[in-house]
Order: sequence, then C-alpha cells, then structure tokens
Amino acid sequence: MAEAGTDKLVVRNIGLLISGDLARPILDADTIVAEGGRIVAVGKAADVDSGGASVVVDAKGTTVTPGLIDSHVHPVFGDWTPRQSQLGWIDSCMNGGVTMMVSAGEVHLPGRPKDIVGLKALAITAQRAFSNFRPGGVKVLAGAPIVEHGMVEQDFKDLADAGVTLLGEIGLGGVKQGYEARQMVAWARKYGIGSTIHTGGPSIPGSGLIDRDVVMEADADVIGHINGGHTALPLDQIRDLCADTTRAIEIVHNGNEKAALHALRIAREIGQLERVILGTDAPAGSGVQPLGILRVISMLSSLGDLKAEQAFCLATGNTAKIRGLEAGLIEVGRPCDLTLLDRAQHTAGRTILESVEMGDLASVGMVIIDGRIRCRRSRNTPPATTLPVVEGE
Ligand SMILES: [Zn+2]
Repeated sequence: MAEAGTDKLVVRNIGLLISGDLARPILDADTIVAEGGRIVAVGKAADVDSGGASVVVDAKGTTVTPGLIDSHVHPVFGDWTPRQSQLGWIDSCMNGGVTMMVSAGEVHLPGRPKDIVGLKALAITAQRAFSNFRPGGVKVLAGAPIVEHGMVEQDFKDLADAGVTLLGEIGLGGVKQGYEARQMVAWARKYGIGSTIHTGGPSIPGSGLIDRDVVMEADADVIGHINGGHTALPLDQIRDLCADTTRAIEIVHNGNEKAALHALRIAREIGQLERVILGTDAPAGSGVQPLGILRVISMLSSLGDLKAEQAFCLATGNTAKIRGLEAGLIEVGRPCDLTLLDRAQHTAGRTILESVEMGDLASVGMVIIDGRIRCRRSRNTPPATTLPVVEGE
C-alpha cells in the first residue's frame, strides 16, 4: 500500500464524484490522481496523467466523496474511550467513512484537571499526542481545553503559542455565563483559536443549561450541537440561533432529531445551508456511533428532504471551510482523503443518492487517507453492492 509522502495513487472509473462543495456538489470527472498524499489531478481519464502509479484503484463505477469529517467528538487518548470503556472506537468510525475528527474537549479523561495550569497542560498534551498518533489513520484534531473561571488573556496566548487551535465546548466547565464566555471567545479568536459552545440542556451530570441568550452573547464560532446533546432548546430559540446569528450550525447524531430537522429547515429557508456542519458528539452517554455521520446524512436527507449529495457536503466541505481545514474537498492541492461508497445491497434505492434520500445508509467500500488505503470493505456498514478493487491484486 502507498505510504503517504512517497507514492502515486490513481483512483479511476469513479461513477459519481461528490466534491464536498455545496455550490457544486457533483463533479464531472471520473479520475483522481494523488502524489505524496495530496490530490494533483481531478478529471476525465483521458485528460489526466495517471502513468507510473504505484497503486491504481478501480472504483468500478462506485461513488467517491471527500473523507467524512466528524465535527464534534470527545476523544481522550489513543483509540480508547473511558466513557463506555471501549477500545478501537476511532478505527471503527474510519470504517464508517470518517477520515477526520475535531475534538470538542477531552472531557472524559478520568480525573480531568480543572485548575488552569492543569487544563492547559492537558490540552497541549492531547494536541501533541493526537498529532503523533492517528488511530486507524484518522486525523484527530484534539487538545481542546474546557475553559474555567479565572483564565486571563495570557492563558489563551500561551495555548496558541503551544499549538492549541481549538477550545472545548464552552459550558462543560465552570464558565456558563454569557459575558464571561464572550470574553474568553474573544481572547481565543485574537490568538487564532477556534471556539464551540455547548447548546441546550445538560448532557451528563456536571454540565449545565446553555440557552439562546448565552449562546448569542458568547458568540463562539460554532453553535455546538444546536439540536442539543441530547436535550434541545425550544424550537423558537433554535430558529433565532439560525436566523439571528452568522455562526456555524452544528447538528449532531447524539442530539434531538426533531430539533435537528428544525435547524436544517431554518438554515435552508434563510438560504444558509453552508453554515450547517455535522458531528456525532460521541463518545457520550449514548455510546459511540461508528456509522454516526452516515446516519445523520441519511436522516437529514430522507426526513429533511435534502438532496443526498448536499448532505454529504455538510459533512465534508462545509466543515472544512468553517473550521479552516485542508481536507474535506476534492480539489488539487488538498489531502487525498477519500471515502468510496456504494448503495447497500438490497436497498430499494436504484442509485446511492436515491438510497440515502430513502433513509438507507451508504456502504463504505474503501477509505483512503493521505493517499493511503486504510480499509477496504467496511466491517461496519451494510455490505456495498459493488466494491472497488486494487488493480494487479
Ligand atoms: Zn455538549
């Protein structure tokens, strides 16, 4: 298999290529070429240089999407979650098509430090550990401190200087008042650190209610789980958060589905689907969901009447653009993170898009991260009708 940074990879005979870009979800191309783990060409087979490849994947007419991005996870260290005493959950999610995860805080660490020097040390350690180790090849952006009372501007500068780029969900720590959150969000933003706020009722003992007024005052970059984690705000408050702010509208698997559909509907009504991003909010009390992103895509597409190709863009290009990530779009120069999908065996849908719009899950046939094959037929999704093959095997 190709190692990132060295070999040339060609994926040819793509039946449907989803770009990740909501403005143009489907590309008129059937071949992707990658070198050194990055996409160097996208086009029709006759128009791209696919010679000299060390690995050629024949997609067999199946579908390629940018690797799915889970915008909201709670990792701890390695591929272990103490929340449900589970090992291998990130690798399992990779088998669900996920190639990148964004931490909303390493909150499940047993004995998680809440003093300021301790929480900073944990964030820096988590950031380092996950940059050095990718379970299943998945890129986990971690090191997301949970802000606490008493933090000052210098703390945010220290975190940024040390390589921290995210805050954990505001509201999971002691900071639950709008004015205090707003100050910390502003300091984080000043030093290039992105922010997310918990939205809705308490998720687990120890977290609290964050309502519309607090979310609006805090003005974090991402309205984290706008559909609650699980307990959602009243629908009129969700409407206001969509219509009266410009921040990202994050819908998660471990939330309230009625509220999720409401948020989607409002975002569409106001013509701002590009603000909608998807996550799981796992691991959590509800466990881990290896197919969580695929499930949210099918839920929003089928019950929310969203075109399937658009739903895939919410989980890829939208998240990339909002969070400033390199991955998430099929474009020259981007990392070659791809999820190869097909319609599930015996779905009533005649095409993969129709099957998703009917509520069935797409089936993963292969996952590629940085130009390297990470899994073939998924061990978790329903089996695909057609599988890609590696030529010469
Ligand atoms: Zn939360």
